[in-house]
Amino acid sequence: MILGIETSCDDTSVALVDMTGAILFHQIHSQESLHGTYGGVVPEVASRAHVEVLPSLVRSAFLDTGLSPSHLQGIAVTRGPGLLGSLLTGISFAKGIGSAFRLPLIGVDHVQAHLRACVDSMESLQGKTIGLVISGGHTHLFRIENWPTMELVSQTVDDAAGEAFDKGAKLLGLPYPGGPSIQKEAEKNTLPLLPLTKKRIRTENPLDFSFSGLKTAFSLLVRKTELNERTRPLLAASLQHAIVEHVLDRIEQTVIQESPSHLLVGGGVSANALLRKKLQVFSEQQGMTLHLSPLSLARDNALMIARHGRELFLSGMYTPYPYTSFSPYTREASDVRVKKTVL
Ligand code: ATP
Ligand code: FE
Repeated sequence: MILGIETSCDDTSVALVDMTGAILFHQIHSQESLHGTYGGVVPEVASRAHVEVLPSLVRSAFLDTGLSPSHLQGIAVTRGPGLLGSLLTGISFAKGIGSAFRLPLIGVDHVQAHLRACVDSMESLQGKTIGLVISGGHTHLFRIENWPTMELVSQTVDDAAGEAFDKGAKLLGLPYPGGPSIQKEAEKNTLPLLPLTKKRIRTENPLDFSFSGLKTAFSLLVRKTELNERTRPLLAASLQHAIVEHVLDRIEQTVIQESPSHLLVGGGVSANALLRKKLQVFSEQQGMTLHLSPLSLARDNALMIARHGRELFLSGMYTPYPYTSFSPYTREASDVRVKKTVL
């Protein structure tokens, strides 16, 4: 069995999977209500909440399944990217149990793990696979030829898609987290959409994403509009449309370049209903199999960490006790942006 621990940001989650990847236990404890009043994640509050919740979640994992840490083959824990304090709580806890039972630690990359949530088993993927992680802090496209490793094809050059949703919601005075609020507000709109950009967004690498231009255009539009029951849904729908169209444009370019047989789409923003619908239509047109993360696993969760961890473990990618070089990383080497709306 593999124990999975996820504490990279503001969700505390624990999972147990067996060595076939089957789920034995999974729970997610959301801190949304703690951070909602601030309109963004407060790092200090997040790490304190992880410290309070994590031990009881791990205890439940063993009590509910009647198992004990002596049944474990290893502990998979999110190593990064994320908030340093949050990551440290999960890693320290994993090191604690791991040391007591002399277990290997499996360091899992949170962004890559979001793709593991899109399929029950990676074995079903025959042929070239492209993965899109679209979340609060990342918009990354990967080429997957040698699971459990992958190659970065492109990423956002500025904001992540989730940040564009979150910041847009803030400008409209909608509650945190912004993505679901924008989606809900957009569903009320009956008016023709307002264009946010006149030209196609250009980036040096044509497969890279860029959301800062949309964000600026949106904030200018909000500033000159009186917010009321008609304009708020209109603005939300226009922003949602512009973000989704940009993502689809990049996916289209990627499909032209890579001709994949499978497309995986995971991360919090993959829960967006308009994006899901448009991706389904597009994939059908292309004859490509789309694997969308189930809604319950689009958000942060430990099941994706445990399952990805299991496959890394089976490939020999783990750190044996006494973990001399096992530390968190807050950003990827190529990622110089600040992670989502952190106060
Ligand atoms: P990362 O995975 O990049 O480290 P994170 O873990 O904080 O960041 P997730 O939890 O994967 O991000 O996703 C959270 C993001 O998803 C937020 O920006 C949120 O607004 C967005 N989101 C959630 N539901 C929706 C939705 N229905 N439509 C659009 N965005 C959404
Ligand atoms: Fe995430």
